[in-house]
Amino acid sequence: MQTELTFDETQKNILSGATTCEKVLDDYLQKIDSTKQLNAFLSVFHEEAREHARRVDRKIASGTAGKLAGMVVGIKDVLCMKGKKVTCGSRILENFESLYNATVVDALLNEDAILVGKTNMDEFAMGSSTENSAFGPVLNPVDKTRVPGGSSGGSCVAVAAGLSHTALGTDTGGSIRQPASFCGVVGLKPTYGRVSRYGLVALSSSFDQIGPFAHTVRDAATVLGVIAGHDERDSTSAEVPVPDYAQFLSKDVKGVNVGLPVEAFADGLNDEVRSNVEKAIDVLRAAGASIYDIHLPHSRYNISTYYILMTAEASSNLARYDGARYGFREDEARDLASMYTKSRSEGFGAETKRRIMLGTYVLSAGYHEAYYKKAQRVRRLIQNDFVQAFAEVDCILMPTSPTTAFSFGEKAHDPLQMYLSDIYTVSANLAGIPGISIPYGTDTKGLPVGVQLLGKQFDEPTILRVADFLESTLKGQES
Ligand code: GLN
Repeated sequence: MQTELTFDETQKNILSGATTCEKVLDDYLQKIDSTKQLNAFLSVFHEEAREHARRVDRKIASGTAGKLAGMVVGIKDVLCMKGKKVTCGSRILENFESLYNATVVDALLNEDAILVGKTNMDEFAMGSSTENSAFGPVLNPVDKTRVPGGSSGGSCVAVAAGLSHTALGTDTGGSIRQPASFCGVVGLKPTYGRVSRYGLVALSSSFDQIGPFAHTVRDAATVLGVIAGHDERDSTSAEVPVPDYAQFLSKDVKGVNVGLPVEAFADGLNDEVRSNVEKAIDVLRAAGASIYDIHLPHSRYNISTYYILMTAEASSNLARYDGARYGFREDEARDLASMYTKSRSEGFGAETKRRIMLGTYVLSAGYHEAYYKKAQRVRRLIQNDFVQAFAEVDCILMPTSPTTAFSFGEKAHDPLQMYLSDIYTVSANLAGIPGISIPYGTDTKGLPVGVQLLGKQFDEPTILRVADFLESTLKGQES
């Protein structure tokens, strides 16, 4: 089955004439159609993708194909594709169609990637389990009784179940890295500003970042190289040159200084996750990396700071769904105020409403200073912790999640427990730094464990290099 290959391997087969984009795509479409119970996709573009694959085959024949020729990609349904629905996993946008392409979508298309469909997600990207989608939960293909993580559960499962080579997700507080760790794939959150957010429906604008899921670090690096870069339509996208990420792969880790935050290895970390992460550390040490204990003294405020600031930003971003301008409108309303109230009450799910209320509260007169302003100051302290840490080390290693994938319903009724599952991921978003999760072994139930690497701003090369090295040591074990 071609769906078991990485993009790197597939591309070699396509370029050598052993297969075609159309055949590769057909295998993926078949697999998508036969795994509908996973609920990974909200829409699939059968005909359009086939037509596109044939066009790319012609380009390959004439030697004019782009870098991603033959790559089948899933797109999280929070990213705009012209003429296609963009539901954000919400009833309120159930029938809303995008008017234009996100910059990342154009970037993929320009390099001849084949966009196969839009993937399921927690409503407006709020959640850690993809149980908050208005269109039903996504199942973890490793164990279907368990969540795939969230909020980009559909994109992650598209890759984990072999329904696409790669997929785009978004990461506001861990939504790429945490599902990647739950499903055993690679998930990369780039530096804030590395990738344009134009055409990404905003959740929390100072945190959101788009990034890839892939089977290998190399494939993730390939996608990043295509989607990264300055975009004049997103004023927060950085004018930092995009390196050729592939040149940092297949290297050793001699002399790389790796920091282990003492706080991340304290109580609350599952023993089996800990022992797998420790194996990765031993492997790096044996390969000549220098391992140091470091401190991130403000990390105990990570979750509270994140959930104050992200809800504040989300409540303001979601104010635009008022029944008038986009999507769902409650027909029974008799006046403007009741149209707003009814449309929002019926259009949004419970978690979205909870966050809108929390965010409105922390921004309201009288509480603004005590919560929002204070959290802004603490965010700066958390950022400073990283600046200090990176004065001593090249990258930071820790678990992606304190546990492996949990069962459906286990945390759904206890928001605090759900929020705590983001304990290791939110700091990268608070600090705007890049992070990657790679699979590193399994627990005794066979559930994947993720190891997370964090880097300095725009230093994706170092985390890709170390992640790629760790990945190669696992392959050695399998064979
Ligand atoms: N789980 C986090 C939250 O619910 C992260 C969400 C995200 O990264 N989009 O806020």
